[in-house]
Amino acid sequence: MITLEDLPLRADLVGAEPYGAPQLVVPVVLNVNENPYPPSEAVRREMADAVVNAAAGLNRYPDREALELRRDLASYLGHGLSHESIWAANGSNEIMSHLLTAFGGPGRRVLAFTPTYSMYPEYARNTCTGYVTVPRNPDFTLDADLICGAAEEHDPTVVLIATPNNPTGTIVGNDVIDEVCSRTDAIVVVDEAYQEFARTPSALELMSKHPRLVVSRTMSKAFALAGGRVGYLAAQPAVVDACRIVRLPYHLSAQTQAVARVALRHKDELLARVHQLAAESRTFEQWLRSRGYAVVQSEANFTLFGRFEDRHDVWQQLLDRGVLIRETGPDGFLRASAGTPPEMATLRDALDDISPTFQGETA
Ligand SMILES: *Cc1c(COP(=O)(O)O)cnc(C)c1O
Repeated sequence: MITLEDLPLRADLVGAEPYGAPQLVVPVVLNVNENPYPPSEAVRREMADAVVNAAAGLNRYPDREALELRRDLASYLGHGLSHESIWAANGSNEIMSHLLTAFGGPGRRVLAFTPTYSMYPEYARNTCTGYVTVPRNPDFTLDADLICGAAEEHDPTVVLIATPNNPTGTIVGNDVIDEVCSRTDAIVVVDEAYQEFARTPSALELMSKHPRLVVSRTMSKAFALAGGRVGYLAAQPAVVDACRIVRLPYHLSAQTQAVARVALRHKDELLARVHQLAAESRTFEQWLRSRGYAVVQSEANFTLFGRFEDRHDVWQQLLDRGVLIRETGPDGFLRASAGTPPEMATLRDALDDISPTFQGETA
């Protein structure tokens, strides 16, 4: 047996750990912002039939341009988009990898605003792109001066703006995105992984005005298709062409394309719980405030709350009670996704049972 130290691992990867939230089998899983409602029996059967049909051609490579899927995604997004403006991949994490492979790379920088999505530094590292971060305002919001000032200082080729942001749930308005796109030459990637949960308009509205604006989406969250691994972007066809240069050949399997198209045909059913889930989070936030927790104003299907004296201890005590949430974000905070009403009740009861100590409180 050899160990990793014996292998010619890239110098910048030495000491790195494989990243990911714990995948534990517990009764209440609220740690990765999934939709807790699985597809119905009818949709499942249609997905299975679509896979059977795709299997008839599994001796052949899939459509490497995923044209039919991209057409379906374009019609889902609307805004007059056609498939030439859409790119699709295995989750929006592969979309981000394509973007940074194409527009980042050695000697270049990608700019993000912390606290934000914990995968961004990984995409940057894997593509040998410098990862530069600038802190958000104290309430975790962003404004155009903050973003543009940072862009002037660090001269990135790509600016990443998540809205609603993970893990804070805070949004960045289109007025800010509009101004940022006018004031920088960088590619501005707006990560709208949670847009379907938000009440504010999508940056897609600005698409025709700003040729370097990229809007990234996923079917993992609102669409209840995390296991299907489908993410996509909307941008100028030239941006799509750049992604097509760097993608692995035939990156999106025939089964994935088939299942995603069934999901899009049943978008009304799959998205039916979106408003309910956002409402679960807003109700949970009110409850937290009534108990004296600090709560970040979220527009997504999750809530960042604290501020705990010992957040790891609270996380562990919740886990001991069968509730898995996420230890992430600024010191003293935890993040919980919206679950079903019984799951949320279990979370609230567990928190009351634990009765955690907040920062600045004497135990
Ligand atoms: C969950 C999430 C994604 C989605 O990742 P997928 O690879 O599509 O599952 C993207 N961006 C953010 C900020 C997220 O929280």
